[in-house]
Amino acid sequence: MSAKPKVAFFEFTSCEGCQLTVVDSLQDHPELLDAIEIVNFREAISRRDHDYQIAFIEGSCSRPSDEATLKAIRAQAGMVIELGACAHLGGINTIRNRQNLDDVRHYVYGDKADWYETYPARPIHAVIDVDAAIPGCPIDRDEFIMAVTQLLQGRMPQIPDHPLCIECKLKENVCVYQRGMTCLGPIIRAGCDAICPTYGDGCEGCRGMISNPNFDSLREVLAEHGMSEDAIKAKLTMFLTYQMMDRGGIGDDNGATNA
Ligand code: SF4
Ligand code: SF4
Ligand code: SF4
Repeated sequence: MSAKPKVAFFEFTSCEGCQLTVVDSLQDHPELLDAIEIVNFREAISRRDHDYQIAFIEGSCSRPSDEATLKAIRAQAGMVIELGACAHLGGINTIRNRQNLDDVRHYVYGDKADWYETYPARPIHAVIDVDAAIPGCPIDRDEFIMAVTQLLQGRMPQIPDHPLCIECKLKENVCVYQRGMTCLGPIIRAGCDAICPTYGDGCEGCRGMISNPNFDSLREVLAEHGMSEDAIKAKLTMFLTYQMMDRGGIGDDNGATNA
């Protein structure tokens, strides 16, 4: 029997972009491929073993039938890691949580709507216990490699919990607010190398909020820069709907909840 840790990748509601980033990242790190045994990864291999120690889960839980699969993964794996914003935050899938789900289902599936089960999208940790998360939409390549390396060393992945603005300032970027744009950097978790501001765009929050975000101050700043309440709400709910609703911080449009 191989002494290498057995690793599996699974996807739920997602675009699979984070798994593609994993494939891309591992191509440059053959030493990690030598150190693990990948036993289940639909995106990359045909092997489908259900004997593994580490499970990476991409995607949000958006159907009742997802729950049994997630619980089976949790029962098997010693370590479960959320992979990317859909798994970690519910991601953009949770935008629909603010809508009437019957309306959404009919809009997408038309007269076949009843064929498809659905319910409010949730991050994986809302359904099963998870051990760590690798944030981002998609995940950051270097952070993924660092996380796998730390896991192999018996350490938990270390994910920053300070605002993106710190990282952005260290890169000596001109703040996008000074260029007439807006940005969620003050409340968003660093770790992506402030890639969006660095390339001239505001942060949309794909890495999720830090643990002590100052919403009131951010809302004031966004309003001072000309955003209406509706526009602020739309900006804050692109990736953060679940986190915001969990904190009771949005108010929703149609009585929908995270539950
Ligand atoms: S986090 Fe983004 S890139 Fe990753 S699966 Fe979800 S939508 Fe795709
Ligand atoms: S561009 Fe965004 S992340 Fe950078 S300093 Fe300004 S608000 Fe902060
Ligand atoms: S700057 Fe913001 S939106 Fe862009 S990758 Fe980083 S956390 Fe995500």
